Amino acid sequence: MTIFEKIIAREIPADIVHEDALCLAFRDIQPHAPSHLLVIPKKAIPRIAEAAAEDKELLGHLFLVASRVAEKEGIAKSGYRIVVNCGADGGETVPHLHIHILGGRPLAWPPG
Ligand code: AMP
Repeated sequence: MTIFEKIIAREIPADIVHEDALCLAFRDIQPHAPSHLLVIPKKAIPRIAEAAAEDKELLGHLFLVASRVAEKEGIAKSGYRIVVNCGADGGETVPHLHIHILGGRPLAWPPG
């Protein structure tokens, strides 16, 4: 069981800002920006590379929730970045699909 599954099961605490039947959004424990939140599906998809055609609606839902969460966070107007790290070179550390939402300061591009 990954750490994110434990958060979904309420076995470990998290600062949850949104929950619905399909997903959960909470604050990243090690924020890299004034606003750093994660949106995760309740379904245990390890990473985007392993998403299936049947996950199409779920993936769309996660992006829409990310947008709503950013709006609620008050960063929609100033702007923000959505990041999905995949695999070792992508910087993935938790093998449960998650969308990072980063905002509240100007973000450099390209990423390191
Ligand atoms: P990634 O490196 O893309 O796999 O992102 C995993 C993210 O999960 C990192 O930004 C971590 O800081 C974050 N993280 C790990 N454990 C927790 C936790 N218990 N609560 C909140 N965020 C976490």
